[in-house]
Amino acid sequence: MPSIAIDLKSGEVVKSKELIIGIDLGTTNSLVAYIKDGAPVAVKDPQGKSALAPSVIHFRPDGSVLVGEEAKEKLVSDPAHTIYSVKRLMGKSYRDVKAFEHYFGYQIIDEDAERLVKIRVNDRFYTPIELSAEILKTLKARIETALGQPVSKAVITVPAYFNDAQRQATRDAGKLAGLEVLRIVNEPTAASLAYGIGLQPDDNQTIAVYDLGGGTFDISILHIHDGVFEVLSTNGDTFLGGDDFDRAIIDHWLQQHPDWQQQLAQDRNLGQELRLLAETAKKQLSQAEDFSGVLRGVPLRISRTQFEDLIYPLVKRTIEACKNALRDAGLTPTDIQRVVMVGGATRTPLVKQAVAEFFGRPLFDKLNPDEVVALGAAIQADILAGNQRDMLLIDVTPLSLGIETLGGLMDIILPRNSKVPARVGRRYTTSADGQRNLKVAVYQGERDLVQHNRKLGEFILRGIPPMPAGLPQIEIHFILDADGILRVKAKELRSGVEQEVEMRSQYGISEEEMARMLIESVQHAQEDMAARALLEARNEAHTVLLSVERFVKQNASWLSAEEKDRLASLANALRTAAEGADKDLIHQALEALNAYSAPLAHRALDAHVAQSLKGQTVGEQAL
Ligand code: AMP
Repeated sequence: MPSIAIDLKSGEVVKSKELIIGIDLGTTNSLVAYIKDGAPVAVKDPQGKSALAPSVIHFRPDGSVLVGEEAKEKLVSDPAHTIYSVKRLMGKSYRDVKAFEHYFGYQIIDEDAERLVKIRVNDRFYTPIELSAEILKTLKARIETALGQPVSKAVITVPAYFNDAQRQATRDAGKLAGLEVLRIVNEPTAASLAYGIGLQPDDNQTIAVYDLGGGTFDISILHIHDGVFEVLSTNGDTFLGGDDFDRAIIDHWLQQHPDWQQQLAQDRNLGQELRLLAETAKKQLSQAEDFSGVLRGVPLRISRTQFEDLIYPLVKRTIEACKNALRDAGLTPTDIQRVVMVGGATRTPLVKQAVAEFFGRPLFDKLNPDEVVALGAAIQADILAGNQRDMLLIDVTPLSLGIETLGGLMDIILPRNSKVPARVGRRYTTSADGQRNLKVAVYQGERDLVQHNRKLGEFILRGIPPMPAGLPQIEIHFILDADGILRVKAKELRSGVEQEVEMRSQYGISEEEMARMLIESVQHAQEDMAARALLEARNEAHTVLLSVERFVKQNASWLSAEEKDRLASLANALRTAAEGADKDLIHQALEALNAYSAPLAHRALDAHVAQSLKGQTVGEQAL
């Protein structure tokens, strides 16, 4: 958190000089940016050539590490020791990545399909977190050299669809690189900030962020209102990007030179040379109508029209994904007020044209599409540092969070779409006399029964002093930070016994899973409600039976034999009803017992006993 200093002489608040940096930790390239004289700038490499640092890590034979452009050069000559696309592995298990393992040129460990993946380089195993930390260290060093001052705080961006585990992994990578990660920000949110969208407190609009990078395509639909960026839907293709445009050109040239096709298998350099020339051609065709070059003495040509014919099917696929994203958000193209372009491959004229046509409006494409995410991250960092605008950017939590109460019911503590950061508390009590331990199980989802929701974790609050059921007061707090990471605190107020845990689910939730959970909650709403009503009736019966038992024990001296018998038989009837599945029968039995016991309770002198007969001393639910 930024601190505020006050100048004691003038009595004025001193603006913090603290610098918080913005980092775009990308699949193919990463960048670091900061606010210079009020405007965001991306920091160039020490040679002053480019702000893009390839997200590539190379391990040299002596164990030292190279990151960036130099590491990228080793991709062809030493693929086994050169790691790329590590972002694709963040927060994933071997099972998650098995299907596209062949894509990686390095060794992914398959010993344990369930645990988070590791990568083997020589005799060492690295987690994607450690490898990402190497990239972050390089960026940190880059900006420290450029500014001549140390930095220790950062905002890092992630794709909007990143789940808990992936966000947490990103945060851990930052920590490992010596950075305190103040906020994890969605990439489309950062991109819109770079264009100033969402910076006015009264901004209220729906926008599309189209992000076509080297190897991935993402489309995100965001709704912005009062400083809240809500992700309505995301779609895309994790294996579609500018690299596929290069490949289309390579295939085109190979068709004209079948001899190269055979040569490729033996001659690794040929493949690399072709790839470089194809990329040069593609970039040139973003401005020019024609490209001509020479490879190994052979002239090669391609026109813009030819190129566009080749990539048309790929561009069409991105438009299909846009349609799907809009459909999922329940919107049509005319509902979109702004379209923001991100990623180097959006410089391709055909891409711009197709996107502008689909949404029927001009594009936000004036900023460098490689840099917008990092620039936006720098703006967010500056806002957090308190240096800029009096803006608070808020996100919302996509699924409700709650805990399991007696009988497997989901008790929602933080409803979906709550603004984060958030802190909410609620009181509970015990369900059995003398209960010393209390299990707190935390779930995420919209269904009434926890068994249909997703468990995030559980812990046990131990050492509650023995008390009658219903007497302990257990306060449970949910503290959700701005990155969507949840801490849960439980405290028994009478004894002060306390426990706190951070809910770190090993695997977060995928977009599809989240959509499924929301749809199911609507589909099952009616049956869930019935199940909930029955469970609630049973819980109430349980509480009242306990209280009556206690009441009879404590007041045995003055209760008549007839009164005791009548209470016992009404309690028996309630017990039987509670074993059945008819909630109305339970309510009838409850009413009968309450009607008979209420006057007796009034007669009892001890006010506390009278209260405990009502069963809900403090109006808290039992866990
Ligand atoms: P990114 O992952 O956002 O850095 O995007 C990199 C992709 O953008 C690569 O496929 C680049 O070849 C591509 N790219 C960069 N400059 C241009 C350009 N002028 N025209 C078309 N594609 C480009």
